[in-house]
Amino acid sequence: MSKWYELKLQNFLSLHPRMRLTELGEERVVVEGEYYLNAQMDGYEAIQETYKLRIIFPPHYPRALPQVIELGNRIPKNSDYHTNKDRTFCLGSEIRLKSILLEHPSILDFIKKILDPFLYAVSYKLRYDFYPFGDLAHGEKGLIDDYQRIFKVADKASVLQVLRALGKRKRVANKLPCPCGCGQRIGKCDYRFNLQGWRRLERRRWFREHLSEFTPVKKEKKKKPKKQTDSKKKISPNSRMAQGQGALEASSF
Ligand SMILES: [Zn+2]
Repeated sequence: MSKWYELKLQNFLSLHPRMRLTELGEERVVVEGEYYLNAQMDGYEAIQETYKLRIIFPPHYPRALPQVIELGNRIPKNSDYHTNKDRTFCLGSEIRLKSILLEHPSILDFIKKILDPFLYAVSYKLRYDFYPFGDLAHGEKGLIDDYQRIFKVADKASVLQVLRALGKRKRVANKLPCPCGCGQRIGKCDYRFNLQGWRRLERRRWFREHLSEFTPVKKEKKKKPKKQTDSKKKISPNSRMAQGQGALEASSF
C-alpha cells in the first residue's frame, strides 16, 4: 500500500469525502462516488459541479494512465465532449498526459493538472455550448496539433520524425534529419536534448507502435533533373487512395 500512500491517495480521499475506495490492491486502486468539482480558470467564471465518477489507477500508474468513467448521465457520450461510448473520458493525448505525470505523479497532481481542467472545460461546454479555450480537434488531427505544440515542430511530417527518432536507439536516431527544421542531423542539433527528455516517457517500442497508428505523410516529389529518356510512370490511383485511409482509432479523443 505504501506506493499509493506516497502517491497521496489518502489526501485525495480526504479532499473528496464522497468518493470511496472500491478496490485497494498493491496493483490497482479504484475509487468511486460523487466527485465535487470546484474550479476556476484564468479569466473565466468559477464552476462548481458534482459528477458521479469511477477512477481507476492501473498497476503501472503513473507510467500507465488512469481511466475515468462517468457513472452518471450528465455528459453526452460523444467526441464533442471527449467522452467515449464506454463512458471513459479522453483526457488528452497520451504523450501530453505522460509528460505531466512524469513530472507530477501524485494522485492530487493528476486531479489538479488533468482531471479538473478536463471537467471544467466540459462543464463549461455543457453550460454555454462552447469550450472556454477552444476545442482540440478530434482524432488524428487533434493528436498531431497537440504533438506539434509539445514537440515544438511545424507540421505533421516533423511530428512523425520525432516519433520515429524516439523509436530508435540514440546512436541510430542521431543520424536522422532533425525534426526542428535546422537542416542538420539530429546528432548535430541541440534539439537532441529535447528528444532525450521525451525518451523517459516510454520505451522505444511504444513510440514505434504509436507511430504506426498515424497515416503516413505524402512525400513531396523531389525535383530531380529530368532524364530525357525516362518513360512516364503512371501513379496508380489505388495506391494514392490507400495513403489517405486508415483513421486513427485507438487514440482518438
Ligand atoms: Zn535541429
